[in-house]
Amino acid sequence: MKVLMARNWPCSPTCALCDQAPETAKHIVLYCSFAREVWHRISLWSGSAARYRWNTSLAGLPKELRRSKAAILMYTAWNIWKARNHQVFDNLMATPAQVEEEIKREIALRKRALGERVEANFFHD
Ligand SMILES: [Zn+2]
Repeated sequence: MKVLMARNWPCSPTCALCDQAPETAKHIVLYCSFAREVWHRISLWSGSAARYRWNTSLAGLPKELRRSKAAILMYTAWNIWKARNHQVFDNLMATPAQVEEEIKREIALRKRALGERVEANFFHD
């Protein structure tokens, strides 16, 4: 963080989402109160996604389930990061509910894209 600040990275030393803790990548994605609220909402929606146990929660699952769970984890982390960037660069503060909706929307798009590919393969075979 100090290196980034020295390079004039336009960031605050305090988290842009909660304004209560030093801004580290881990804090933003995992420990921030904003991030926790998003993870909680996604957990309720998906019935899974334990954010502290990414590796162990994915290990031993069937391939398809592991993929869809990994996608939920990635889309959640990615959208929390995007919410942070909107706040920092555009001064637009999203709510956890808005981030949740964006995650659901992106996952639905992904599912549709994968479904279309499966269908295309089906017709080629
Ligand atoms: Zn925070």
